[in-house]
Amino acid sequence: MTMTIKKSGNSGPDLAFSINAKVKAAKAQFGKENVINAVLGTLADDEGNIIALDSFYKRLETMDRGLIASYAPIEGEKAFRETVLDLLFEDNRPDAYMEVVSTPGGTGAIRNGIFSYADIGDPVICHDYFWQPYQKMCIEFDRDFRTYNFFTKDFKFDLTAYKACQDEALKDHDRMVSIINSPGNNPTGYSLSDEEWDDVIKISRGAVENGKKITLIIDVAYIEFAGDGEQKKFFKKFSNLPENLMVLVAFSMSKAYTAYGLRSGAVVGISSSKEEIEDFKDAMATSARCNWSNGVHAPQLILVELAKDENKGEYDKELASLKAMLKERADVFVKEAADHKINIIPYFGGFFAFVPTDRAFEITEKLEKENIFTIPSAMGIRIALCATNKKDIVKLVERLAFYMDK
Ligand code: PLP
Repeated sequence: MTMTIKKSGNSGPDLAFSINAKVKAAKAQFGKENVINAVLGTLADDEGNIIALDSFYKRLETMDRGLIASYAPIEGEKAFRETVLDLLFEDNRPDAYMEVVSTPGGTGAIRNGIFSYADIGDPVICHDYFWQPYQKMCIEFDRDFRTYNFFTKDFKFDLTAYKACQDEALKDHDRMVSIINSPGNNPTGYSLSDEEWDDVIKISRGAVENGKKITLIIDVAYIEFAGDGEQKKFFKKFSNLPENLMVLVAFSMSKAYTAYGLRSGAVVGISSSKEEIEDFKDAMATSARCNWSNGVHAPQLILVELAKDENKGEYDKELASLKAMLKERADVFVKEAADHKINIIPYFGGFFAFVPTDRAFEITEKLEKENIFTIPSAMGIRIALCATNKKDIVKLVERLAFYMDK
């Protein structure tokens, strides 16, 4: 017995990062050109080098050292917090009280949301294709992570399963958290339609009428890659909600600003109650102080700069080229998968493609022996199109088909 108080099911390394370590070792041993890396959700160019946006990093390189070195306020720079609201909502601000507290990436936002809005033993519900850390966090904090079927047969959000899971969760609990990763879900790329959001809100309203408390944590880590603006319309729907229906949005600078390692993001609270929103700000700032103290200062300052009218065009252009690159790779993947008769989750957009199979671990182990790296899960195989060039995608699909007996 070791000394730590490990929770069962939560020990061991993170799968994505441990497979990424294998990629690095394979590259060192066999040469970069002989390794196919479709693992992490980081954008890479066709040579496999991580993309770091010029618009962002030239500002970091020329920033005053004293500023980089300095602490940010615990809740984040005021201008940063205002900019997050502008960028996130554009013309779709909900009619509600809102506050923003900076966090180290979307991870910090989700962590603080779960910790403050679900008590020990309380249910945290999520679709069954989900980002693994949600579950790990729930195990770590003794929250009861439960999943429901994500898709109907024709790949729509399974609202019946959602309602059933919510009803079951609230049967013997007074509060619950629901995590929804949309738009641009990881790993499926799926974005709930505006009508599906209407239904989610309706289902939540039905439950809170009886005095239950529901917090929706909406993880929008991939929002900038999930459309050209129309994907933000649903935010407006969080206007005038009941006081016991709270919305938290987890904002991340990792993907949209290629700032993964700089750890910056924010948690945005939306509520019809002034008291609730003040309580939200207090809780988030206290959790920040107890866990990481302050967010990283430099990315907050850069976000503000990039959002200014005179700089926005420069950033938007870079973002558009990333989206175009993803689209080209996805087109190749979809065509190759169809040619090999591989069943995939329809590509809805975003960083990943997904192949459902219950043999994921066995197949990916075989692929690894050929230096082809992907991420297996109970639901299937995730392929990071963001990290892989078109030529490698063709080979990857061909080998995948071979091991899937296609
Ligand atoms: N949510 C999802 C679905 C993700 O895939 C990621 C990163 O991979 C995050 C949140 C959080 O990213 P970060 O903490 O780097 O902002």
